[in-house]
Amino acid sequence: MGTATHQPTVSGPGWTSLLTGVWMDRHGVKDNRFIGGRFQTYSHFMRRIKEVQPQAFCASFTDWPPIHDFIADGSRKGDVEFLDVKFTRAPDAARHFVDNPEKDIEVRDAALKTLSDSDPDAMFVYFGQVDEFGHGAIDSRASFSPDSSLYLNAISHVDSHIGELLRAMRARPRFAEEDWLVLITTDHGGRGNKHGGDSDEERQIWLAAQGASLIKEKLLNEATPQTALVPLIYEHLGIQPKPEWNPEPPPSPIVIEPKPAEAKKP
Ligand SMILES: [Zn+2]
Repeated sequence: MGTATHQPTVSGPGWTSLLTGVWMDRHGVKDNRFIGGRFQTYSHFMRRIKEVQPQAFCASFTDWPPIHDFIADGSRKGDVEFLDVKFTRAPDAARHFVDNPEKDIEVRDAALKTLSDSDPDAMFVYFGQVDEFGHGAIDSRASFSPDSSLYLNAISHVDSHIGELLRAMRARPRFAEEDWLVLITTDHGGRGNKHGGDSDEERQIWLAAQGASLIKEKLLNEATPQTALVPLIYEHLGIQPKPEWNPEPPPSPIVIEPKPAEAKKP
């Protein structure tokens, strides 16, 4: 906090950091409008995988469309699509947020199909309902709190979706010869019905990780920031990142920070 990499606990900057491996001072995404995103310079990790392993099969599934519309499409070189499967389910505009649990089921089923029909080298799967329940958008009684049974219920639903994906992964005919790295995380926590601020409840998030290439002691004993996931993926795939994938950021303009008491809550 208080440095050039300090960024709000908002999904635009959060998912951009998780998928590009750099902070806001480099990727340029400050909020969910994605204005000023520098995806051509700091690209989605799957575009980088394709750059060095053109035969790799990359698949991405989400019911939060900006992940594809901005982070993935913004990372394309010209019109060249680097995602072999790109499954987007937007919540219906008239029922915004309300049908997120159903969209999560569609996302899960599409990901299950790819796991059984194809040989993916990299997959990304996003489920939206935990965030939406936290906001109280689906049921006004819910909040980002362990005291909210509706919130815990949403977590259980997503947990069972992930369980099905892991079962499908282990049921692959050649699973014994395959070498999978599994990373499960979220992009922010929450407080009440909101997030975006600097509290521990918003900033401290968890990572569940499994894979032979992981160094357990390092993950358990050191802070693992959002930007650490892409390097773990490259290491697992044997990809040596090129220096031009992560150049020095442009000098940041002088920003006069508002006093904490006046800081605007997103
Ligand atoms: Zn949210």
